Amino acid sequence: MALRNILTQEEPALYKKCRKVTEFNPRLHQLLDDMAETLQQANGVGLAAPQVGVLRRAVLVLETNVPEGEDEYVIELINPEILEASGEQEGAEGCLSVPGEYGLVKRPAKVKVKAQDRFGNWFEVEGEGLTARCFCHELDHLEGIVFTSKAERMLSQEELESGEY
Ligand code: ZN
Repeated sequence: MALRNILTQEEPALYKKCRKVTEFNPRLHQLLDDMAETLQQANGVGLAAPQVGVLRRAVLVLETNVPEGEDEYVIELINPEILEASGEQEGAEGCLSVPGEYGLVKRPAKVKVKAQDRFGNWFEVEGEGLTARCFCHELDHLEGIVFTSKAERMLSQEELESGEY
């Protein structure tokens, strides 16, 4: 495994629509393994392939809603699609490509996503709260959308520290 460089918001690649993954080969597995290491090292909750310069529909989401005492785990989603979305949440959102900045973004409270695993098998997964936010945020990256364009407004350091916004 190897760390990949995370592109920041001025890179044009972050604003391009990504193509489907069609080959579930060792090259894809290497990409996913590298992304997992990069995500862990950056201490993030999600990472999309375009953030490491690969314009393909592959993302990682960290499932943080785990029972007490169990480990958080990374979900690999290839060619993901949102099947259902319900409810609404509004909160602070950030991105590894926009370091240190957070904005107020509305997202569904709960989503159901369909995706392929690294071997091409389809599965469905649900996420709530931060995980739902993360699914939506990472899927937006595949459309070339960075959260700053969806934020009602960006948050000041003061607001972030106080948690009042
Ligand atoms: Zn992001």
